[in-house]
Amino acid sequence: MEKITTGVVYECLRCGAKVSTEELEIRGGEVKCTVCGYRVLKKIRPPVVKRVPAK
Ligand SMILES: [Zn+2]
Repeated sequence: MEKITTGVVYECLRCGAKVSTEELEIRGGEVKCTVCGYRVLKKIRPPVVKRVPAK
């Protein structure tokens, strides 16, 4: 299931896992891949999943 995040998402340069800032905060706020533990992550913006009504 697609997770809806409004903040920044990091992508691991090693395994390509997407890690949200919320998950990083849960793990102590350290920027680190939650899958493989690699510390070099690229900051990306998640694709917008939710629909926002146009104003
Ligand atoms: Zn990784």
